[in-house]
Amino acid sequence: MVYVIAQNGKPLMPTEHYGKVRWLLKKKRAKVVKRSPFTIQLLYGSGNERVQPVTLGVDTGYQTAGCSASTESKILFEAEEEMRNDIPKLLTERREKRKTRRSRKTRYRQARFDNRRRIEGWLPPSIEEKLSAHQEMVAFISSFLPVSSIVIETSAFDIQKIKNSDIEGKSYQEGEQLGFWNTREYVLYRDGHKCRICGGKSKDKTLEVHHVIRRSDGGTDRPDNLITLCSHCHDGVHKGIVKPIFKKAPQFKAETLMSVMRWELYSRLQKLYGKENVSMTYGYLTKNTRITHNLEKSHHVDARCIAGHPEASSDEGWYYMRKTRSHNRKIHKDTILKGGERKLNQTEKLIGGFGLFDIVRYGDDVCYIHGRRASGYFDIRKLDGARVHSGIHYRNLTLVERVNTRTIERRKPIPLLSTEAGVSSAMI
Ligand SMILES: [Zn+2]
Repeated sequence: MVYVIAQNGKPLMPTEHYGKVRWLLKKKRAKVVKRSPFTIQLLYGSGNERVQPVTLGVDTGYQTAGCSASTESKILFEAEEEMRNDIPKLLTERREKRKTRRSRKTRYRQARFDNRRRIEGWLPPSIEEKLSAHQEMVAFISSFLPVSSIVIETSAFDIQKIKNSDIEGKSYQEGEQLGFWNTREYVLYRDGHKCRICGGKSKDKTLEVHHVIRRSDGGTDRPDNLITLCSHCHDGVHKGIVKPIFKKAPQFKAETLMSVMRWELYSRLQKLYGKENVSMTYGYLTKNTRITHNLEKSHHVDARCIAGHPEASSDEGWYYMRKTRSHNRKIHKDTILKGGERKLNQTEKLIGGFGLFDIVRYGDDVCYIHGRRASGYFDIRKLDGARVHSGIHYRNLTLVERVNTRTIERRKPIPLLSTEAGVSSAMI
């Protein structure tokens, strides 16, 4: 699929008429603006071409986020993005460095510890980073697809529904399945996705929700009668082998932060793209959609279910994206050279025309620049981290694409498409 941008910069519907794309490029009626995903910009026309409604589903994640832009029947773009996890490490490092600076013999500085106030809506930097990564992902996709509505999952379950509805035992039998799915997700969340008997010691990964008082004995489907057990312990309880002594529900921090993040993302997207264009859904609905449509469990498929288009299809595959740091703020190396000289830590923005993380071609390999030396010898790797060469001079490399903070790689091959420059779009 080739993504198309109008002359005025507005995204249009993508096309699969590769012949036409080739002709447009050849006749200089369009130019290539991005190689992955392959995007062209028309150099003629009004930009008032008709577009279909495109829904973008976002599956928020702590490690990996998924997104899927689709119409009812067709997947237009799907990707998974790996989040940066180096923020806490970098901050700890900085804190350590500052500590030593304070104890060094320097001029007197007045103590500063009680004169700082956190601004309203402050989030831990690790979460703030993830939040902006999600925001950037939405902006990135909106730059080449005419996204008309955005759907995000704000929470795994609908707590209002659990509180208000009278989910008695009968509702389950009457086929009010979705209500139970909701409660089930809540119970799993409350118990921290851990077995309340063994706490995960049985190594059984399958979690089930157990009725403390059986339904046949009048037990309800309300959360207070439900408890998370692993399949192993659940079996044991029903066979009478394992004594049902339940441990206290564990505390979990990451999950709470994630739910704060999801709601914050929801309100920020509403501010950016308009209240009427951004809506929300719940995790239990996504899960139900995925299972009833017999779809695989992955972030980009979940995003497709969130968008409400589980029947949409495509043979295009999906993209893998990774966020990288945009700048190295550390000015000096840690070790001071003989003679007390501080060696600079930062290299030039470009060395021989190449920047960090730029996508380059080396022989038949397409890789990215992982590390650079001022001497011009670079460390080049595949996106999955496999080293291709640890010291290759830039003379042997050709620039494929300039990368700023997002590296992107296709996860399933597509037909090759030659352009004027003789470069193919099927690069990593
Ligand atoms: Zn267990």
